[in-house]
Amino acid sequence: MENYLDNSDINKIREVLDNSGKIIITTHTNPDGDAIGASLAMFLYLKKRGFTVRVIIPDPYPEFLAWMPGAAEIMIFEKLSGPCRGFIQESDLIICVDFNNLSRLNELGNEISRSDSVKILIDHHLNPAEEFNYRISFSKISSTSELVYDLISESGYKDMIDRDIAACLYTGIVTDTGSFSYSCNYVKTYLIIAELFRLGIDGEHIHRLVYDTYSESRLRLLGYAVSGGLNVLPEFHAAYIVLTKDDLERFNYKNGDTEGVVNYALSIRDINLAALFMEREDYVKVSFRSKGNFSVDRLAREHFGGGGHSNASGANCYMSVKETVNRFLALLPEFRNKLTHVYND
Ligand code: 5GP
Ligand code: MN
Repeated sequence: MENYLDNSDINKIREVLDNSGKIIITTHTNPDGDAIGASLAMFLYLKKRGFTVRVIIPDPYPEFLAWMPGAAEIMIFEKLSGPCRGFIQESDLIICVDFNNLSRLNELGNEISRSDSVKILIDHHLNPAEEFNYRISFSKISSTSELVYDLISESGYKDMIDRDIAACLYTGIVTDTGSFSYSCNYVKTYLIIAELFRLGIDGEHIHRLVYDTYSESRLRLLGYAVSGGLNVLPEFHAAYIVLTKDDLERFNYKNGDTEGVVNYALSIRDINLAALFMEREDYVKVSFRSKGNFSVDRLAREHFGGGGHSNASGANCYMSVKETVNRFLALLPEFRNKLTHVYND
């Protein structure tokens, strides 16, 4: 069975917690189920242990995560920057969850960089930055939520994982594995899932809350994305979707509405690389997905200033949509051979 954490990780966490009273937990912009699930599980656990703890995130979480235990207590930096700054200044420990670089937190990241608090990273992305005092980072694990489960249980506090914490961790694991369709080939993940069910979570209900609560406009946006917005390039085994500002406005776009959209482009037979280009206020948000050994982390890092995982990555490009898409298209001939011969290792 995979064992990620070693004694030095556990001892370090213990030592850091022993010296902390006021703790901030934070995660990345456009937070997904794992970012919020892992943050809230950590929050509920540390609160139970008697710490003063707050979750501060850069921008709002999607509505389909609002039901999560503790979600109502999350502070959004974009909306409450004054009080958030105060809490950061008072803190002695900042736990950074589910991201690899403070630049992923925009202005909140700068605020945290300036803080003297101890910064601990708990994450599963490739290439964790040096800027943290201590890094617990394993790129092979399904999700940060699985790592948080390990961390709590290996620290000797397994009994503290209650039904609410279990629901947060389950949501993180389910969403980061695309409902057990990738990053999920390890027995250990399922043993943890079994433990979470033993604690009384209702997996069917959670699935409905996360996946079956679309607004009509979100579903229509998906419909447009996979019809008018979709471009397929069979000769390069690639497909991409473009959503302009106008498109997003037309479908009354809300944070989280495009979650999962890029996967539809990858679901086409023989398509091994998929991209979604979303025009935002002053940048283009790009999502990449791939099959097998084609690394989109590398693609995002080397050509778009982003990063992520080998099969799922993203970037924010401060160029026009046209320029961003053209940069992508210009790379395809170079990748043609690799994209034609994708395999699973
Ligand atoms: P998504 O496409 O769902 O936004 O992100 C896919 C993966 O790439 C996630 O694990 C996310 O954390 C990561 N990611 C998204 N955008 C960026 C970015 O701008 N920089 C880095 N380093 N990672 C990103
Ligand atoms: Mn994650």
